[in-house]
Amino acid sequence: MNAQSSNPLEQSIQYIKTVGPKRAETFARVGIRSIKDLLFYFPTRYLDRRNLLTSSKAYKVVEDGYDGEITVIGKVVDKDSRSFRGKTILNVKLRDEDGYFGCVWFQGAKYFQDKFNSGEIFAISAKPTISRYGELQFVHPDFDRISEDESQFFYNTGKIIPFYRIPKELKEKNIGDLSFRKIISFAIEEHLSLVKETLPARLKEKHNLQDLQDALRQMHFPESEEQLNEAKKRFSYEELFYIETLVALRKNNYKEKLKGLSLPLKTNLVKDFIKSLSFELTTAQKKVLTEILSDMKNEKPMNRLLQGDVGSGKTIVALIAMLVAVDNGYQAAIMVPTEILADQHAKNISKLFQHFHSLYPQYEIKPTLIIGGQKKSLRNKNLDEIALQEADIIIGTHALFEEEVHFKKLGLVIIDEQHRFGVAQRARLASKGSVPEVIVMSATPIPRTLSMTIYGDLDVSTIDEMPKNRVPIKTFLRGEIKLPDIYKFIVDKTKEGVQTFIVYPLVEESEKLELKAATTLYENLKETYFKDLNVGLIHGRMKWQEKEEAMLLFAAKKYDVLISTTVIEVGIDIPGANIMLIDDAHRFGLSQLHQLRGRVGRGTEQAYCILVTKDEYAASSARLPKELEYLSPVLIEKYKSAIRLQTMVKHLDGFKIAEVDMRLRGPGDIFGVKQSGFPELKYSDIIKDGDLLLQAKTDAFEIVASDPQLLKEEHAVIRKNLLEHYSENLKYAKVG
Ligand code: ADP
Ligand code: MG
Repeated sequence: MNAQSSNPLEQSIQYIKTVGPKRAETFARVGIRSIKDLLFYFPTRYLDRRNLLTSSKAYKVVEDGYDGEITVIGKVVDKDSRSFRGKTILNVKLRDEDGYFGCVWFQGAKYFQDKFNSGEIFAISAKPTISRYGELQFVHPDFDRISEDESQFFYNTGKIIPFYRIPKELKEKNIGDLSFRKIISFAIEEHLSLVKETLPARLKEKHNLQDLQDALRQMHFPESEEQLNEAKKRFSYEELFYIETLVALRKNNYKEKLKGLSLPLKTNLVKDFIKSLSFELTTAQKKVLTEILSDMKNEKPMNRLLQGDVGSGKTIVALIAMLVAVDNGYQAAIMVPTEILADQHAKNISKLFQHFHSLYPQYEIKPTLIIGGQKKSLRNKNLDEIALQEADIIIGTHALFEEEVHFKKLGLVIIDEQHRFGVAQRARLASKGSVPEVIVMSATPIPRTLSMTIYGDLDVSTIDEMPKNRVPIKTFLRGEIKLPDIYKFIVDKTKEGVQTFIVYPLVEESEKLELKAATTLYENLKETYFKDLNVGLIHGRMKWQEKEEAMLLFAAKKYDVLISTTVIEVGIDIPGANIMLIDDAHRFGLSQLHQLRGRVGRGTEQAYCILVTKDEYAASSARLPKELEYLSPVLIEKYKSAIRLQTMVKHLDGFKIAEVDMRLRGPGDIFGVKQSGFPELKYSDIIKDGDLLLQAKTDAFEIVASDPQLLKEEHAVIRKNLLEHYSENLKYAKVG
């Protein structure tokens, strides 16, 4: 412990009254070391005055039929435990200013017995009942011990009492609610005046925010509900403001400090390529292309997010952008998350180029592929092509990062399905050339508030329209019992030339078991329902060459049905496949289901997605008790898989599905906030605090635009706070 630290708030808490070295050690074990740690250890809840009644008032409202939660404060007068049919029942009797009331435990009597001692004061909260003896009674209530003073305060002035999460290490050393609260109050008395403000005065004024010292005091010992809310708002704004400042700095660093390439359209290459395609680009594709082309022409480095639902045609847009780089004498690389996908892209791109070359012999563009597990000789040949710029377009997985890959002249990097890659990886690839242009592609639609934080440093282009020829996919949800009928349906459709994916979930812990299930199913189906069909199998344990072979056979219509674990999830494009059967569908997440469904319906034929589940509730046509917005977390948990599956039936639109997914999972989980290089949110909820986030963003971007180095006197506080608290996150932002 460092008592000599220059910042007095960094001193050990042993200097707080009643703490001392021994207790300080116990606190250190749960991560509370300095006075600052303690001041920022906020209550997890507060005793709520709104439901506080005296015992006789409580009695009346219960008699009148009120059945909500009530809090009564009383002093323990008696307790007894009796055994009844082999069970121990604990009764605790308390009194307040106008009567008696009781608490009962039918379970854990031994444990609770020791918590209540004669003369101690408790706040008791639960739905009360009236006992057989006509007494006000609480069964298994929540209870909080408070001091005599506090109870007086609480009654007379409405003061709100804080409760903290007290780790068991502290409880074991007899630091309970009362002593913890006392220690906090001493810390505030003795040290609060040393806390330095962390927001510029102008912003505090602009948004009418409490001073930091005030806000800290109100968080611990609020004067009123309003003051408490103001304090919470201050911490929430501050957190969002600093995140947006990091975003703004990161963007500024990239755009203003680094010099990029200017890649205009030089020849007719791009125009001719577009003419060679078998379809016309959609309006949305043309719109995002214009945005991308203008970025590429501009000398500032492009850093753009290209988003669009599964099947909206991002790949062709990416390819055209790559050709712009080639037109300027540069190479372009596209990085995708799986070997299969890289392989598939490489094949499709080669085919497009061959066709292009046959129509316009003057253009000869060479693609090459870099993935793990390639034969040494092939790999070396491809590496040479890249180093000598014989290859113009390089397709690969994260193997593109490896040190032996030397691009001669890299002008554009495209990262497909970004949510699987972290910023660090992005930065690493980008550093392979002299600041190449960057496009990140994502099929996961991101609500705006979220993209403002984790992708806030990227410019965004959205393809918000599907190619016109698409027929909406029909989605069905069925119980397992219907499988025989479904297999018959598949056999019938096969006669019309339709191909089918059958997907089995592969959960990591039981990979072996699942694999066995998929293999067994494959063997069974081949001998029974599908004995006249050609059936293939693909799974994650195969080498990529084996996977490639299976995919090739499927693409060439040598298989009617492909049984698969989830390796096909991302990006695979087999136009002839129009049935997607997902078994045990309740075990998949929503975005995964949406991705899987996106594997079919990519052509002009009617496609089907059939979800099969063991979840009987989901498969029945039972309706949820309420609309999703109104379901409590407990009910959401209970109906989670039903909600997911029924959402799939109801919606085809990825944005709608992403919204539901956010509700079910919370934002952090889904979109890789953790990989984004931004700090996690402690005080704010980006869905609920959307307006505050917008304000914080505007403020942060204005400040960084006017003072990118944060050198002005009025911004010194921001600079200092960033270096002190966000140094880890500054890596990608760089304050000079
Ligand atoms: P995603 O956005 O999921 O990456 P893809 O780029 O793989 O979508 O496109 C899906 C399919 O649609 C591909 O087979 C592609 O050739 C085709 N496609 C792309 N753009 C169009 C268009 N404008 N009209 C018709 N088909 C298109
Ligand atoms: Mg794609």
